[in-house]
Amino acid sequence: MRALVVSDIHANLEAFRAVLEDATSFDELWCLGDIVGYGPEPNGCIDLLRSFEHLSIPGNHDWGVLGKLDLDDFNADARAANLWTRDALTTNRRRFLDELPEKREMGDVTLAHGSPRYPIWEYLLYASTAALNLPYYATRICLVGHTHVPVLFSADDDDHVDAYALEERKPLVLRSGRHILNPGSVGQPRDGDARASYMLVDTELLSFELRRVAYPVARTQDRMREQHLPARLISRLELGW
Ligand code: ZN
Repeated sequence: MRALVVSDIHANLEAFRAVLEDATSFDELWCLGDIVGYGPEPNGCIDLLRSFEHLSIPGNHDWGVLGKLDLDDFNADARAANLWTRDALTTNRRRFLDELPEKREMGDVTLAHGSPRYPIWEYLLYASTAALNLPYYATRICLVGHTHVPVLFSADDDDHVDAYALEERKPLVLRSGRHILNPGSVGQPRDGDARASYMLVDTELLSFELRRVAYPVARTQDRMREQHLPARLISRLELGW
C-alpha cells in the first residue's frame, strides 16, 4: 500500500494541491495534524483532505481552534491566526477536527503530531528527545510532524539515537531497527526551503521517500493579506522558516 504522508498543512490550500499533484498516485492519505492555523483556507484544506481515503490526527493548532488548548500558550501571531480560524471554520469542519484520535497505529507505523509521548505538544528536534520517546510507541516506525523540519531519527540496538538528514527523492528502506521520521511541513516549511515538504511510504517494503515541491507562494500570501492575517506569517512563507 502506498501512503502519501502530509503534516502541518496549516490551511495552505495552494501548497496542499501542489503536493497532491506531485505525488500522482497513492492509496491512502495520512495527515499528521495542524491541518488549520496560520493559513487562509482552513475549510478548503479540510474538504480536500476528506475527499480522499485518509487517516488523520490533530495537532496543537487544530486543538487551539477547538478551544481544547489555551491560546495563551501560543505566540501572538499564532494566537491571532487561530482566533481568525475559529471564526472562519464551519460547525461541520470543527466537528471533523474534534473527532480525530490523538494517535493512530497501522501495522508497523504509529502516527503522532508532536511525539508518541505527548502527541499534541512535544517537539522532537533532537536525538536526545527522540530517544526518550522510544518506549512510547510499540511499532518499528513512528511518523511525527510539528517541528516543520524533515528528519530521520534512528535507534541502534542499545537504543542510542542519532539524527539524519533525509535526501530528496531517494526512498529509504527501514526493515530493521526502530525509527522516527518527520516528513516536514506542507504549508509552512521551516528549514530554509520554501517548497512544500511531504513523504511517500510503501507499507509493504517499509520504504520512505521525502519529496519537495514548489507551489505558488504569492497566491497564498495574497489570500492571507485579504484576510488581514499577521504580516510576519505572510512573509515567512517565501523564506521557508
Ligand atoms: Zn504546525
